[in-house]
Amino acid sequence: MRDGRLAIIMLGPPGAGKGTQARMMSEALNIPHISTGDMLREALRNRTELGKKAQSFMESGALVPDELVDAIVVERLGREDCSQGFILDGYPRTIAQARFLQSLFETNGARMLSIGIEVGDSVLINRLSARWTCSKCGKMFNAVMDPGKIGGQCDECGAALVQRKDDTTEVIAERLQVYHTTTRPLIRHYQEQGSYVEINGDRSVNDVFDTIIGVVKSRTNG
Ligand code: AMP
Repeated sequence: MRDGRLAIIMLGPPGAGKGTQARMMSEALNIPHISTGDMLREALRNRTELGKKAQSFMESGALVPDELVDAIVVERLGREDCSQGFILDGYPRTIAQARFLQSLFETNGARMLSIGIEVGDSVLINRLSARWTCSKCGKMFNAVMDPGKIGGQCDECGAALVQRKDDTTEVIAERLQVYHTTTRPLIRHYQEQGSYVEINGDRSVNDVFDTIIGVVKSRTNG
């Protein structure tokens, strides 16, 4: 791993738009988008040991134990495509994970920026229950606001749209609860480090994106 990599951490509740924004940022900044949720879902689909261990936690909306998630992050950040930087989406989610990540940066060095996308719970619940995701490329759609041009298919790659198993009313409630009690305290943690910027996520995808890119440029070019 090289020193001085750009480490962008996307913070915010489920449904805030972290994944959508991280995908767009990844393209604009040419650094990989690393989603622990996507990696865990892939492990589940492939029925790996990790997938088997993570399944019950994910299906109930609970967090997967830190040591399992930390291990997949270390492995992923060690790959060559992360040498210039990376965007973490959905990690860290606990103070212990944040400390673990910090210890990696202390060893290898990184310029860190944490971006918190803020959206109120009622908007999040509506968004998550209407969320459909492309089964191939991961692009997200909203059954009400942005259903896609061809019913049930991804506009970009044509694959079928699927609804996540944890986007059900009960599991959404649990995930929001976990966010407020366990993940939200990370905001304070990153504020104290001086690396936190908050963005209003209750706006159009493009408006949020423009704001984020402006922040990234002003924080990293200076
Ligand atoms: P996400 O796609 O980020 O909403 O993550 C989906 C689910 O994967 C979460 O509800 C957790 O069960 C699990 N997960 C993803 N990232 C983490 C993490 N950093 N720590 C613990 N569990 C995670």
